[in-house]
Amino acid sequence: MKAAPFAYVRPATLDDAVAELVRSRGEGKVLAGGQSLVPILAMRLARPSTVVDISALSELDYVRREGDALVIGALVRQRTLEQHPLAAAVPLLRLALPWIGHRELRSRGTVCGSIAHADPAAELPALACCLNAELEIAGRRGRRTVTAAEFFLGAMATAIGPEDVLAAVRFPLAQPGEGFGFAEIARRHGDFALAGVATRARAGGETVLTAFGVSDRPVTRDVTGLDDEALAALARDLVDTAGDPHGSREYRRRLVAALAVREVARARRAAEGGPA
Ligand SMILES: Cc1cc2nc3c(=O)[nH]c(=O)nc-3n(C[C@H](O)[C@H](O)[C@H](O)COP(=O)(O)OP(=O)(O)OC[C@H]3O[C@@H](n4cnc5c(N)ncnc54)[C@H](O)[C@@H]3O)c2cc1C
Repeated sequence: MKAAPFAYVRPATLDDAVAELVRSRGEGKVLAGGQSLVPILAMRLARPSTVVDISALSELDYVRREGDALVIGALVRQRTLEQHPLAAAVPLLRLALPWIGHRELRSRGTVCGSIAHADPAAELPALACCLNAELEIAGRRGRRTVTAAEFFLGAMATAIGPEDVLAAVRFPLAQPGEGFGFAEIARRHGDFALAGVATRARAGGETVLTAFGVSDRPVTRDVTGLDDEALAALARDLVDTAGDPHGSREYRRRLVAALAVREVARARRAAEGGPA
């Protein structure tokens, strides 16, 4: 099958990209790395009137520290961030990025594109929720910033409107006394996760668990003070996806309970300065 016909534009500025989306009257689609959008077009699951390619917006091609955050512009590829020296300041990025598909895919797919796509089993939306990242959205009324908790509305549904571009994501830098954990299970290397978890803990402070692949969006809970038994029970209850041929709901429940116990322990150990 081939994509339905569409107009293609490649604006040079963010303002022009927004103007193109406004001109498309809600029928436009942003094209970033194309790793999800191109198959969607080819299968005619979407039929935009205009594809707005943002690859020439050099103003969004940056990774930089701003205060207590690592800010990643919309042009940054997943593989670029994986190899970027500043990524070490957000340890969960280092832990999770290699799990996204295959290297070739990460060489094209963008960090913001994955967050904008909001696949319930994707790694970067889960990281954004676990760290309570902020998302900078540009639209016809200027820029606004929303938290990850406000951003993800459901499976492939976000706070990005049809005339908006996700301009950047702001991940908080790790603070002294914080530790992290990340794990997922997929049937084959490079597949989307059946289920996964991202965790963070602060020495003597809060512990947070985000599970993904278990619901229509990443699910985050404060698990401070919970022992393994309580944690496993809580994690099991986060799973509300129906089973599929790759894994039943019960299998996913057992999976996410085991991963949660292990990765919360890892984050707590790291927060206390112990081995990862
Ligand atoms: C075989 C295969 C395996 C994969 N495995 C995984 C995996 O294990 N984990 C994982 O997380 N992903 C996986 N992916 C998806 C991949 O990571 C994509 O790169 C990612 O989901 C989308 O990023 P992109 O830059 O390619 O966005 P695109 O494909 O260009 O866009 C995706 C969607 O987001 C919108 N969009 C993109 N950027 C913006 C923006 N800046 N502002 C507003 N809207 C925007 C587009 O309009 C479109 O609707 C896989 C893909 C394939 C083909």
